[in-house]
Amino acid sequence: TPIIEFKNVNKVYPNGTVGLDNINLTINKGEFVVIVGLSGAGKSTLLRAANRLHDVSDGEILIDGQSIVSAKGKQLREVRRNIAMIFQNFNLVKRSTVEKNILNGRVGYYPTWKTIFGLFSAADKQQAAANLQRVNLGEKLYSRADELSGGQQQRVAIARALMQEPKIMLADEPIASLDPRTTMMVMDDLKKLNEELGITVVVNLHSVSLAKQYASRVVGLRAGKLVYDKQIGDVQDGD
Ligand code: ADP
Ligand code: ADP
Repeated sequence: TPIIEFKNVNKVYPNGTVGLDNINLTINKGEFVVIVGLSGAGKSTLLRAANRLHDVSDGEILIDGQSIVSAKGKQLREVRRNIAMIFQNFNLVKRSTVEKNILNGRVGYYPTWKTIFGLFSAADKQQAAANLQRVNLGEKLYSRADELSGGQQQRVAIARALMQEPKIMLADEPIASLDPRTTMMVMDDLKKLNEELGITVVVNLHSVSLAKQYASRVVGLRAGKLVYDKQIGDVQDGD
């Protein structure tokens, strides 16, 4: 079943740069899709459109059958709640504890004043701890975020994203600033969410070899166009 559908999607930036050029792409529930392409190919533009972090110029994007392009207000928030996203730079609150950072993933479920005063329920605190366990960092719950290594911070960002109980996890170059060993741990965590929780994962990567190692499907972009789309079993050595 389709969970993300791009139909004839174009994105031209205000300065005239073409970000996406007539993208047609259907991603099904449970897939682990890696999007590869050189810097500037449009990977980030594509993921940001799927979450409506920016608008597209024309075309339709459906999330679990609902248009995210035309959704407004409450409806938009409901569509977005299904989609979690992590970034290259982790976006943690550096001076907060890991626990507070993870609980921030609950924002939107609470009135703002509750999150300001840190009034999270015991159930949410339990869930935060469980999500941290899931990324194998259970012992870091009360550490300050900036005491962790880059790889550990990204795994905290994953735990935070899980507070949303998303159906879809988008990851925009999540390992770009990490060394090879921590890269594997982050990719392993994403694989685990995909396999154990059934979350559909879409990851932007530069590395074709990593894509081959983790993806169930590899999609290639070049100059805003979709130029490659294969199930992992059909990917050739020379691709
Ligand atoms: P990447 O390697 O991820 O493509 P970029 O340097 O292209 O890194 O992009 C970094 C940031 O700058 C992004 O937020 C992107 O949206 C923005 N950006 C990229 N190209 C342009 C541009 N031509 N004009 C304005 N902003 C840009
Ligand atoms: P990738 O993620 O594959 O590196 P991007 O999606 O960041 O590629 O960029 C695709 C194209 O859009 C590039 O030519 C980039 O310079 C341009 N671009 C990205 N962000 C902006 C922006 N905010 N303003 C103008 N051009 C941008």
